[in-house]
Amino acid sequence: MRPDILNPLFAGVATLPGVGPKTSKLFDKALSPPHGGEARVCDLLFHLPHSGIDRRARPKLMDAPRDQVVLLEVTVVEHRPPSGRNTKAPYRVLVEDETGDMTLVFFLANHQWVERSLPIGAKRWVSGKLELWDGHLQMVHPDKVLDEAALAKLPPVEPVYGLTEGLTQRAMQKAAEGALGKVPDLPEWIDPPLMAQRKWPTFMAALHAVHRPEGPESLDPQSAVRLRLAYDELLASQVTLGLVRARMKKLGGRPSLGTGKIADKITLALPFSLTNAQAEALVDIRADLASDTRMLRLLQGDVGSGKTLVALLAMATVVEAGRQAAMMAPTEILTRQHYERILPLAEQVGMRIALLTGRDKVAERRKTLAALAAGEIDIVIGTHALFQEAVTFRDLALAVVDEQHRFGVHQRLALGSKGEAVDILVMTATPIPRTLVLTYFGDMDVSMLREKPAGRQPIDTRALPLERLDEVVAGIGRAIDNGARVYWVCPLVDENEDLDLAAATERAELLQQFFGTRVGLVHGQMKGADKDAAMEAFQRGETDILVATTVIEVGVDVPEATVMVIEHAERFGLAQLHQLRGRVGRGKGRSTCLLLYKAPLGEVAEARITIMRETEDGFRIAEEDLRLRGEGEVLGTRQSGTPGFRLASLDVHGALLPVARDDARMIVDKDPELASERGKAVRMLLYLFGRDEAVRLLRAG
Ligand code: ADP
Ligand code: MG
Repeated sequence: MRPDILNPLFAGVATLPGVGPKTSKLFDKALSPPHGGEARVCDLLFHLPHSGIDRRARPKLMDAPRDQVVLLEVTVVEHRPPSGRNTKAPYRVLVEDETGDMTLVFFLANHQWVERSLPIGAKRWVSGKLELWDGHLQMVHPDKVLDEAALAKLPPVEPVYGLTEGLTQRAMQKAAEGALGKVPDLPEWIDPPLMAQRKWPTFMAALHAVHRPEGPESLDPQSAVRLRLAYDELLASQVTLGLVRARMKKLGGRPSLGTGKIADKITLALPFSLTNAQAEALVDIRADLASDTRMLRLLQGDVGSGKTLVALLAMATVVEAGRQAAMMAPTEILTRQHYERILPLAEQVGMRIALLTGRDKVAERRKTLAALAAGEIDIVIGTHALFQEAVTFRDLALAVVDEQHRFGVHQRLALGSKGEAVDILVMTATPIPRTLVLTYFGDMDVSMLREKPAGRQPIDTRALPLERLDEVVAGIGRAIDNGARVYWVCPLVDENEDLDLAAATERAELLQQFFGTRVGLVHGQMKGADKDAAMEAFQRGETDILVATTVIEVGVDVPEATVMVIEHAERFGLAQLHQLRGRVGRGKGRSTCLLLYKAPLGEVAEARITIMRETEDGFRIAEEDLRLRGEGEVLGTRQSGTPGFRLASLDVHGALLPVARDDARMIVDKDPELASERGKAVRMLLYLFGRDEAVRLLRAG
């Protein structure tokens, strides 16, 4: 149960002075709290101003910025009330300073108020949007008309909030004021040395500083005040992930001690040696497998960095221990490819492997399931079909999940529940920036394959406008005459499959006019078997050019392919371009990637293409992608509605994340029940950020 002391913060905004039942609806809309319900006081506190009006800058009329809200010191010169019967005309007041003059304009004015507030000859401070109208400066309905005494009471910087239709800045400011008054004195959850080192204020002082800014500094996202609040939010999320992780570990694992017998044979059979990165990843994975806690590890590596091999050797380790492994891939094509590549090696070393997909014949499937349950199969490679209830293992020790974020977390766990304390290895080919791994996979250990296998040649990446298609076709002709194999990817058109298909079909037809049956086509609407047939024809070299919509699956491996043409490259995201380019440059031949674009290029598209030409480092590309797109989209979380952060923004506060992660680890390691003084304060933090479920884990024990 949430501690009583926090209750005022979790009351609805209608409990604040000046907020009635009607306006509270507007607050629900403007604050759109992550829980989706009614806006509460804490939602208001976490709705930080996006900017501020600095009242301390006192420009003269001549240099005051136009079309902005400004505060000006003026002397009242003349009143011009609407004349005669024309009551619709505005009441105008002429004011001046030593640099010029301006008209204050009041429509439907209360004459008495205007006369009282702006006596002729008096000095006044007026605030409002300064506009140039017909060559003359004017301010329509100043939001403030102040005398000296009133000016002294004005906050130096006025916060400006995101609003919704019908809600005014004034109402939001007043409500925020009221909310500040409800903030209780809370115990400190941040480590005192860290606070001192960073010169961070307390939680309460930080909230006061942002909502009642003393200067523009506290509105700067990098200010100590903002950093403190961002850290609070990051710490809450990292402690939550840490508690989930601790719980998983507590549920326990079973050690799988390999003998090295099978894995060594595989390594010997390979025509190459492991890269250092592969060897290091295996050391970590084997240590995890051998320990009696559960493994939750993310294996990150660019396309072609050799993750599949690492996974195979990890699976060999559990097979040596007399247990079973499962490997799951997101698509039929990828699953088959993994199977076909692993099969010859497995047979050589005596591992029994099976394939399980949604397309198996009934009798065959029954046989596979029986063999799995009896432990007559060591490794099963499959699609989603592996999740089905009918699938049981004799002793599943390790689940490898390829291409993580096509599967949800619950699916990952579903596979994990098919054995007793199954170790989990997730592989992802999309290099995820460190900051995002920590945010979304904070509960996992990470191994990275940054190094590419030796002998890989750089890919020559070029950009050409679509008008030069003729030249490209001629160049492709020369390349295939020299034995090259070419992927030709057609663009996404408005996410519309029919149009995608039309574009790809049309392109295939054009290329067929030149190259006849050497051109194949694969697209998302083909039947599975036809898709496989088209891919296989290309793999075997029966076709030299494969025209494809983006269905050329992440991970499909045709080492002989050396040319990648991407049409309408400007329509693809950076990560996607990188993934597609990764289809080539896998074999011994020199590879080329042609980015065909429609001119003129927009700014972002041009930036993407420049980055593609500059680097092949997937991690750098991922960082750039993050910068160009914003954090949510990289993992496709924006669509699925994973709640984001309110106080922290990863592009600004990303550097705090590792600090929060380490701190969270320390807290959870030292005080797993959050029972110490600091632990109790951290509980408070968790409640504040709506992490009640994390606190519940503590009790589940
Ligand atoms: P990923 O799954 O990371 O995309 P793969 O495991 O599919 O990469 O490997 C890509 C290609 O590189 C495969 O053909 C594989 O046999 C080869 N490969 C893997 N490791 C090495 C290595 N250490 N040296 C040379 N080639 C390697
Ligand atoms: Mg792969």
